[in-house]
Amino acid sequence: MAAAGLHFLLVPLVAQGHIIPTVDLARLLAARGARATVVTTPVNAARNRAAVDAAARAGLAIELAEIPFPGSELGLPEGMENVDMLVEREHYMLFFQSIWKMDAPLEAYVRSLPRRPDCLIADTCNPWVSAVCARHGIPRLVLHCPSAYYLLATHCLTKHGVYDRVADELEEFEVPGFPVRAVGCKATFRGFFQWSGDMERFQRDVADAEATADGLVLNTFRDVEGVFVDAYAAALGGMKAWAVGPTCAAAGLGGDDADAKAGRGKRADVDAGRLVSWLDARAPASVLYVSFGSLAHLPVKQLVELARGLEASGRPFVWAIKEAKSNPDVQAWLVADGFEERVGERGLLVRGWAPQVTILSHPAVGGFLTHCGWNATLEAIAHGVPVLTWPNFADQFSSEKLLVDVLGVGVRSGVKVPGMNLPEEAEGVHVASADVEKAVAVLMDEGPEGNARRARAKEIAAKAKAAMEEGGSSYADLTDMIGHVAELSIRKKRHEGDTSARALASAPPE
Ligand code: UDP
Repeated sequence: MAAAGLHFLLVPLVAQGHIIPTVDLARLLAARGARATVVTTPVNAARNRAAVDAAARAGLAIELAEIPFPGSELGLPEGMENVDMLVEREHYMLFFQSIWKMDAPLEAYVRSLPRRPDCLIADTCNPWVSAVCARHGIPRLVLHCPSAYYLLATHCLTKHGVYDRVADELEEFEVPGFPVRAVGCKATFRGFFQWSGDMERFQRDVADAEATADGLVLNTFRDVEGVFVDAYAAALGGMKAWAVGPTCAAAGLGGDDADAKAGRGKRADVDAGRLVSWLDARAPASVLYVSFGSLAHLPVKQLVELARGLEASGRPFVWAIKEAKSNPDVQAWLVADGFEERVGERGLLVRGWAPQVTILSHPAVGGFLTHCGWNATLEAIAHGVPVLTWPNFADQFSSEKLLVDVLGVGVRSGVKVPGMNLPEEAEGVHVASADVEKAVAVLMDEGPEGNARRARAKEIAAKAKAAMEEGGSSYADLTDMIGHVAELSIRKKRHEGDTSARALASAPPE
């Protein structure tokens, strides 16, 4: 089904782990001939403009549209428009309340359009778009940014009353009615908007918007998650669900623009050329890349343990240490400790935002110490890089289980629970330096076990690539999704035609 003539609006949650895959999805739609407009706030539009402009220059009909963020109405500082900007605890609730108020600016934007869009794809965390779509008769799809494994697990736990029945946060249980054996606790299987007391309204809105959507779009692919995708769609009463990922494969779409690839989500805090030269000088599969994504901040004590472990490992590494940009204590420790001088040329520190896909796609990278955010997980899978798993919160413990237990491409660092569930005496330290050193050695090992893990990772990466190519499952799912939207749009127009014809027929003669 050709997408030519169809206009998609895409409305991401204002968080890096949601905006990046949404922009990628927009690129994939535009590559099929559709027009794709990513609607977001000014700060987030500015962060993504280089990548979108590069794709537009290469001929894709993709653009950004800005709507104001209502945060200052609720007392948030001007310009605080992304979850990665939240530091103070009291800002979180206000931030999500502000997101829920984005319906008015979206309504104004939709009204300003000369023609009604054919479809709006909104992040599952943006249920407030529903009323706007309903008012304007716009077909609406929900985009899920975590794994289908996680969506299904949290669904099963809700359905079987486990969240209500189990009192202790750390009591272990097996997920009932799940296609594979999955053991965890409430702390490691927390659903979205289940992490604080008064978010029930948000949870309810998310569930309602999902139940009433015209279909679900998932950033995953059937070779890895088909069983979870199908079970989740069935659990929602046979809803249409399309697995169209890994969307990070769109990074090269719209011209092989190295700058656009390096600037995904934000301008990198390192010169990508310098970084690539550093990697070029390393042996294939010898480098460990370390990153905890855009949100997880490690306490200083834990960072010190990690640094000691990396130093003792003797392996070359690139460490995206965002705390070195945001936390003065970490800056002071780095200067006083002399860690960088000691590791010398063997270690490259990126103080802030790293060009992650540029790094993971380099042949020198042979391992990824990751917090298991779903995008990081897919980026590791898509590039065939085995992982050392270090989950922090939300869906990250599920991604760890999928990577280690189901796919066999990961080694656990030993993190058991989110930071807030650690005993006080641990002082934020999940993994001691000796355990970091051991885990890195296991991951980067060149013996039979390490080689088998690497081979599995390469095999799965080949499947991910094939899924995205013409004839692959994700390509076919996207085709089917576009066809579904085209039909819905025609039906709506026909219905409106009938309604206006009836209105004309019943109008009193002049
Ligand atoms: N990312 C990046 N550079 C960084 C940190 C993160 O490019 O220094 C990107 C990463 O490639 C991924 C996204 O930001 O696409 C983070 O999403 P993820 O789901 O992995 O984790 P989150 O940040 O939501 O915890």
